[in-house]
Amino acid sequence: MGAHIIDGRAIAADLRAKVAVEVRRLGAECGLIPGLAVVLVGEDPASAAYVRSKSRHTVAAGMRSFDHRLATGVAQRELLALVERLNADPAVHGVLVQLPLPPQIDGRAVIAAIDPGKDVDGFHPLNAGRLATGLPALLPCTPLGCILLTKTVLPSLAGREAVVVGRSNIVGKPLAQLLLAENATVTIAHSRTRQIPVVCRRADLLYVAAGRAEMVRGDWIKPGAIVIDVGQNRIAGTSGMQRLVGDVAFAEARQVAGAITPVPGGVGPMTIACLLANTVRAACARAGLAAPKLGDIS
Ligand code: NDP
Repeated sequence: MGAHIIDGRAIAADLRAKVAVEVRRLGAECGLIPGLAVVLVGEDPASAAYVRSKSRHTVAAGMRSFDHRLATGVAQRELLALVERLNADPAVHGVLVQLPLPPQIDGRAVIAAIDPGKDVDGFHPLNAGRLATGLPALLPCTPLGCILLTKTVLPSLAGREAVVVGRSNIVGKPLAQLLLAENATVTIAHSRTRQIPVVCRRADLLYVAAGRAEMVRGDWIKPGAIVIDVGQNRIAGTSGMQRLVGDVAFAEARQVAGAITPVPGGVGPMTIACLLANTVRAACARAGLAAPKLGDIS
């Protein structure tokens, strides 16, 4: 029998609907309208499409969306000045600078300049450190989405063997931290890992964020494992059209896995839903209100 397909679109729609309910409640009871500012530098079409989608969902959830476009050649000081203005703006509760940034910009300095309380991407070193040391933090959206998707099929991850392929600061490392917080036994694999198929086959929970199209084959997967595919790769399809594939060879993997996320329609939609939830969390924290119950993990 084939794997259960984890429907990220439906799960994300459910979370966005909960966010919208919470936003309405905050507006009615406290006069608070959460606001998300997104900064896009340059013309990269994939980033531009992603930013448009974020704005659309932000508005659909009843929040304010502030979009800022800067030219590819923008100077670092100009970008930092914009971040400072957004940090100081009381209508803005979340600030997100879309990555990747052009080479003249020091991305780490930009992320560090965001007010940690408005860091709805969860990339600021303070939030990363709080996550690593078990303190409450704004959590990175994609890793948070991965855990929420996993929990739709397995509510407790305690004691499970988890393998995370990829060790980036935005996906692999924070995902491993979240899995540790869920009491999973965690291995992080990367480009220097030896015998990576053997390592992956140990996993009850396999998370793949390598950015390598269809790298994980069916025979890398333990029968019955939960496979969460973070990868988003555009490859040439038939008739010259591009198509989006994950880091997992889906057709093979679904024959072996117990549950699996598709690409598209898996992790991607959850990232935006978690971003909206983080913006509401940030707005509540700023207003001194209790944290809303939105896509919470243990
Ligand atoms: P990075 O390129 O920053 O990191 C990739 C990681 O994968 C690195 O740690 C790298 O190892 C490792 N890796 C690369 N090749 C191999 C290999 N052959 N074997 C084992 N490990 C390998 O990517 P990101 O973390 O930013 O993104 C990963 C993927 O997730 C991409 O496809 C990206 O598009 C997607 N993504 C999707 C999101 C969503 O919302 N769905 C959000 C963010 C990312 P090393 O460190 O040794 O170089």
